Amino acid sequence: MAQTTPAAALWVLVPLYNEIEVLPELQRRLLAMFAALDLPGRVLYVDDGSRDASWTQVQVFAAADARVHGLRLSRNFGKEIAMTAGLDALARESDLAACVVLDADLQDPPELIPALVARWREGYDMVYGTRRQRHGESGIKRLTAALFYRLMGRVSATQVPRDTGDFRLLSARALRALAGLRERQRFMKGLFAWIGYPQTQLLYDRAPRAAGRTKWNYGRLWRFAVEGVTSFSTVPLRLATWVGTLTSLLAFAYGGWIVLKVFVWGIRVPGYASLIVAILVLGGLQLLALGIIGEYVGRIYLEAKRRPLYLIQDSTPAAGAASRERA
Ligand code: UDP
Ligand code: MG
Repeated sequence: MAQTTPAAALWVLVPLYNEIEVLPELQRRLLAMFAALDLPGRVLYVDDGSRDASWTQVQVFAAADARVHGLRLSRNFGKEIAMTAGLDALARESDLAACVVLDADLQDPPELIPALVARWREGYDMVYGTRRQRHGESGIKRLTAALFYRLMGRVSATQVPRDTGDFRLLSARALRALAGLRERQRFMKGLFAWIGYPQTQLLYDRAPRAAGRTKWNYGRLWRFAVEGVTSFSTVPLRLATWVGTLTSLLAFAYGGWIVLKVFVWGIRVPGYASLIVAILVLGGLQLLALGIIGEYVGRIYLEAKRRPLYLIQDSTPAAGAASRERA
């Protein structure tokens, strides 16, 4: 299944944005882990338009060690796109056995990578890290995450594993399959699940951030959740149809009842309450349905422009193929 040639290397892909505080520690732990690994290790840092000294730091690392490579995007595109840029570069790499996606903030311990490799050798194309606990996260974040996974499970045919981030190992063919998905709305958790192939999980304890601050806030999380649902499901659109059908049926029944009343008791003027309630409820439902349709139309619009997903501004000299950009 996921066989390797002896020289093929394990690549660690690290998307990063303003992570200068954690980079030295990350680099130290990565190289220590490589020493314990029984296949050659390489790192690809993808700088997602950091505004601190992260890129300079990556260049220093790359100059000091031939196993370290770096890629800098032309601005901040967001983690999903930064990851895509890295995966694209690695898909063109000839000496790739497998690739591990790792957050820069040391929440996913690099020391776990040999365990991922061991599962991959058993024949799995994807080994994803699933959090046993969520340290250092608020109760509300945990609750909203749980609700999100439940919703995704309900509305989408692609089953996204719970409590699973981007920390995972991909075989060469899984990576190439992912690189072939060029959609702009990149809900990576869903894309990872969509490609299929034998997948398994590895339970681990996710540490709190080593330093620096999370780049997520609730606004971003909300957009992320909408992205997840709309790019993997059309159930919300169908929901509008169901609600529409139901209200029409109710309206017909109620209309029939009113007509009957007119024939039996004659016309009676009072009716303000029922009138205003009907107008408000129907108006609200219509706007809601329009909003849902709008979410999808907007996405079609963005997709139709076919802009490149990212632009590369710079790369470390040895990155070679990785410096060529791809639409
Ligand atoms: N990240 C990125 N681009 C962004 C935001 C984040 O490349 O626009 C990187 C960040 O440097 C880190 C990873 O994505 O390596 C996860 O980000 P963060 O720790 O902020 O997210 P959390 O762990 O809180 O979900
Ligand atoms: Mg983090």
